[in-house]
Amino acid sequence: MSILEIHQKLIKKEISAVELTKEYLNKIEDEDKQIHSFLTITPELALRQAKEAQERIDKEKDVPLLCGVPCAVKDNILVEGIRCTAGSRILENYIAPYSATVIERLKKLGVVILGKTNMDEFAMGSSTENSAYEVTKNPIDKTRVPGGSSGGSAAAVASDFCQFALGSDTGGSIRQPASFCGLVGLKPTYGAVSRYGLIAMASSLDQIGPITKTVEDARIVFEAIKGKDPLDSTSVEPEVQGSKFEIKNLKIGVPDEYFIKGMEKGVEEAIEKAISKLKQLGVKIRKISLPHTEYSLATYYLIMASEASANLARYDGIRYGNSAISNSQPSTHDPFEIYSKTRGKYFGKEVKRRIILGTFALSAGYYDQFYSKAQKARGLIKKDFDQAFKEVDLILTPTTPTVAFKIGEKINDPVKMYLSDIFTVSANLTGLPALSLPCGKIGRLPVGIQIIGRAFEEEKVFEFSKAFEQL
Ligand code: GLN
Repeated sequence: MSILEIHQKLIKKEISAVELTKEYLNKIEDEDKQIHSFLTITPELALRQAKEAQERIDKEKDVPLLCGVPCAVKDNILVEGIRCTAGSRILENYIAPYSATVIERLKKLGVVILGKTNMDEFAMGSSTENSAYEVTKNPIDKTRVPGGSSGGSAAAVASDFCQFALGSDTGGSIRQPASFCGLVGLKPTYGAVSRYGLIAMASSLDQIGPITKTVEDARIVFEAIKGKDPLDSTSVEPEVQGSKFEIKNLKIGVPDEYFIKGMEKGVEEAIEKAISKLKQLGVKIRKISLPHTEYSLATYYLIMASEASANLARYDGIRYGNSAISNSQPSTHDPFEIYSKTRGKYFGKEVKRRIILGTFALSAGYYDQFYSKAQKARGLIKKDFDQAFKEVDLILTPTTPTVAFKIGEKINDPVKMYLSDIFTVSANLTGLPALSLPCGKIGRLPVGIQIIGRAFEEEKVFEFSKAFEQL
């Protein structure tokens, strides 16, 4: 079912919001043992919200589309009163003292929150195997990963444990799991959605966005969460949503640099098939060049790690989360010992690796050589896109170089894992909106196609993606 169909059923009283929520909760209870998509299930909160939603449906005439619709939330987005771990042991017992702005907005519309989903620790990873708690399985093939870092959110939607889920995307963490699970995932334009209440990974790259079954569902959720928020000074209310357009007049750019060696053959074929199908829409397909693409992965891994190392400094065993030193009977008062014991004990391997890399890149003497150079490269990558968008309206690429890989296949080789992000990181570095949607399969495994738009032109991305979805 789509959000619209659920809405129809709810307002026609074919089903009550409470019944619907119970159905989802029962399904999670029965089936999530095999998938491990949730870290925390919140039946009390969900049933209370469902009851309130039903009261609105009974009383009000025009209830919002999302009223009574059940969702799941990635475990790095705060929901007041609910545990929020970010997939890390260091926040194992952390209860969110307030809700993120996106959650406040959804609550106002009457959305029902079923629980918090598994993720790579602090959103660092592409497979959800870096979670300190559990490995989420891909519902399409349980021997494979669901992608990451929002793998729990994608697996929950693909398993029908919720109607939609929120994820966060710093380098591909919404789009890549959406692609691996045959779903739609949107990383909005940087600044389109408030980051207030999102546990920060890399602040100049992070965005919250929806994972859904259809493009229209993604649009409905995006419309609900977007907009300026006084609590996030980087959020904006764009004045223009782009000019009016007709699908058949759109010019679509296909960058040469995104068809690389090492890409799975079936993925390339699926994308090529999709491109030839697109011709039915009457759109013009143009070859374009984004010459600095080869630097994007290195640039991303430097900037992301630098920002993450600064953001994660707050987990020091004193202010937030777990501490290795007992509060009542402290064995030491030396702050350095408290920091190192706590961080040594509660951070996982990948998090430590990135803190070390980022701290090094920012250190005096190396700053110019690494961080500041990466910022210059980021500028060049952005210029490539500015240039391309003078000639085309949208850019089309594969979302990932492979389909969902096997659990365990890449976990011991970080560089191999990082290569999964090769097509997604540019949209974060440039701040541009990017959506992944299914475009074919290799056997049972879905292939995703990525549509990148100009800043704040999500509407164009949605309209085009919808037309493509219906082909
Ligand atoms: N897979 C990427 C990484 O490991 C992206 C993470 C993300 O978007 N949160 O950094």
